Amino acid sequence: MAVAIGAHVDQTDPVAEAAARGAGLVQFFLGDPQSYKGPVVTYADGAAALKARAVEAGIDLYVHAPYIINVATTNNRIRIPSRKLLQQHMDTAAEVGAKGLIVHGGHVNKDDDPAKGFDNWRKAIEATDIKVPLLIENTAGGDNAMARYLDRIAGVWEAISTAEGAENVGFCLDTCHAHAGGNPLETVVEDVRKITGRIDLVHCNDSRDEFDSGADRHANFGAGRIDPDLLAGVVRDAGAPVICETPGGAEEHTSDFAWLRDRL
Ligand SMILES: [Zn+2]
Repeated sequence: MAVAIGAHVDQTDPVAEAAARGAGLVQFFLGDPQSYKGPVVTYADGAAALKARAVEAGIDLYVHAPYIINVATTNNRIRIPSRKLLQQHMDTAAEVGAKGLIVHGGHVNKDDDPAKGFDNWRKAIEATDIKVPLLIENTAGGDNAMARYLDRIAGVWEAISTAEGAENVGFCLDTCHAHAGGNPLETVVEDVRKITGRIDLVHCNDSRDEFDSGADRHANFGAGRIDPDLLAGVVRDAGAPVICETPGGAEEHTSDFAWLRDRL
C-alpha cells in the first residue's frame, strides 16, 4: 500500500532531513513549542527559499503549532494570546508553503462547561485567516480536553461547522494519543470520520503507556504498548499521509518506516 510516511524533524533544514530519511514529507516546529514568542524560521535562506527547495525536492512540509496554544480555554489571558500565536504560525506556515498547520484541541478548566470551549473554537476559526489547512489534533489527556474523547470532538466539530473558514479545518489523528486517551484503535478511524468527515494526517506513534492512561509518551514502533496490527490498521484505514513523531533521528525513523511498511 502506497502511503506517504515521514517524520517530525528539526526545522533547520527540513529538506535535508527528509532526504536523510528517504521521506516525502516532514513536520517541524517554527521555534520553541512551549513559548508564546512568535514563530522563528531557522532555515538559513529564509521561508521563501525553504518553500522553493521543498517544491523542487518534492517534499511536503507540515508545521506543528506550539503546544501551549489553547484557543478553547475560558481564561482570556491564555485564549487571546493563543489566537494571536495561532495566526502568526498560520502566516509563517503559509510562507514556507506548508500543506497543513497542526494544532492541539486544547481544554477548558476543570469546572467549566465544555460548551464554552466548543464555542471558543468556533470564535477562533472565525477570527483566524486560514491560509493553509488547519488540522486539529486529538490529545491524550488534560483536564476537560476538547479533543480526547469522541463526544468532545463532536462538540468542537459541530460548533466550528457554522464558522466561516470551516472547510479549511481538518483533523490530525495521533495513534499514541488515541490509545492513551482511551479510544479503541480498532474503530477510531471510523469513529472520527463519522464526526469530522475527514482525516487529513496521521501522527503514527507507539505509546509507552497503557490504554486510557491519559499519558502522552511516544515510543518507537514495537517498543510500546500498542498492538502492531492495530497501529498498521489505523494507517491503512485512514489512507492519509503519516508523520512519525517517534524518538530518535534519521536512523530510528528509517527503521520505524520500514517496520510500518512491512505491516501495511
Ligand atoms: Zn502528535
